[in-house]
Amino acid sequence: MTKFGYEQKSFQSKKTNFVFAALLILVVFVWALLVSPDHGGLVSININPELRVEFINVGQGDAILVRTPMGKNYLIDGGANVPVTDARREGRELVHNYLRSIGVGRLDGVVITHWHNDHLGGLLPVLRLYDVDVVYEPPGKFETEAFKDFEAICSKQHIKRITTKAGDVLEWGNELFVQVLHPEKPLSGKEYSDVNNLSIVLLLRYGRVQLFLAGDIEEDAEREIMKYGEPIKSQVLKVPHHGADTSDYFRFLQMVSPEIGIIMVGASNAFRHPSSRTLSNYERLGTKIYRTDRHGNIRLFVGGKNPQDYRFKID
Ligand SMILES: [Zn+2]
Repeated sequence: MTKFGYEQKSFQSKKTNFVFAALLILVVFVWALLVSPDHGGLVSININPELRVEFINVGQGDAILVRTPMGKNYLIDGGANVPVTDARREGRELVHNYLRSIGVGRLDGVVITHWHNDHLGGLLPVLRLYDVDVVYEPPGKFETEAFKDFEAICSKQHIKRITTKAGDVLEWGNELFVQVLHPEKPLSGKEYSDVNNLSIVLLLRYGRVQLFLAGDIEEDAEREIMKYGEPIKSQVLKVPHHGADTSDYFRFLQMVSPEIGIIMVGASNAFRHPSSRTLSNYERLGTKIYRTDRHGNIRLFVGGKNPQDYRFKID
């Protein structure tokens, strides 16, 4: 009897342990689901261990799609807004069509680096046609028709607008670090270079790989951003201002010392971007260059496990 009783007790004890363990697992699961900011990685059906960044060929202009490992999509700039026939003839993408073609139905955020048409124009149809959670914009206003359209669309669609400046850290998911490096002050004048120099500049880090997205900054802003020092060193640089020679301050380029430079530029563009001086500067640094006018859409996949854990795919 004693033996039986012991065995019985032992059996009951095992059952209790089992029930306790099951309860504990359930509690952890529910906690991860509800409390943990990334839901413990349990609920997303879009988990991809890589960060994907697509430099979309929009001709002369910028459009960069950031697709996070947790399945969020952020668009940085949208290229110019041109008729679809022109886009076809020039072999370039219209961003809203591009998003549809790759199955992106809504955007978690849109960044407008600055108010020039080659960045803002193509975003207007995107803001009209897609669900967009939030727009990040530089401080200050810009008196153009496109800017007025932008304000009207945001208000009609009830899109949240966040003025974004140096020091802000964007909440794009715990696995990704996104810091705004620039600008510090709002737009004051209406000079072309003022607008360029007040572009939102982003530093993206995933694991051990860093990207520097420079908007259209020129030398003034490049000198200012050098105050950050060594931490801005990045494997990949979205080359400032389409490779114009207003923007290749050599000490700044040395500080970033990119292994890869992406030049977003239209074929045979009227500005003759990129400049030969800029190209030779990158050559001096040993930076490999990809260009949207030559390579089309440029896709970057970042694993981030080590500093070399990234790769490119071009059309
Ligand atoms: Zn531009």
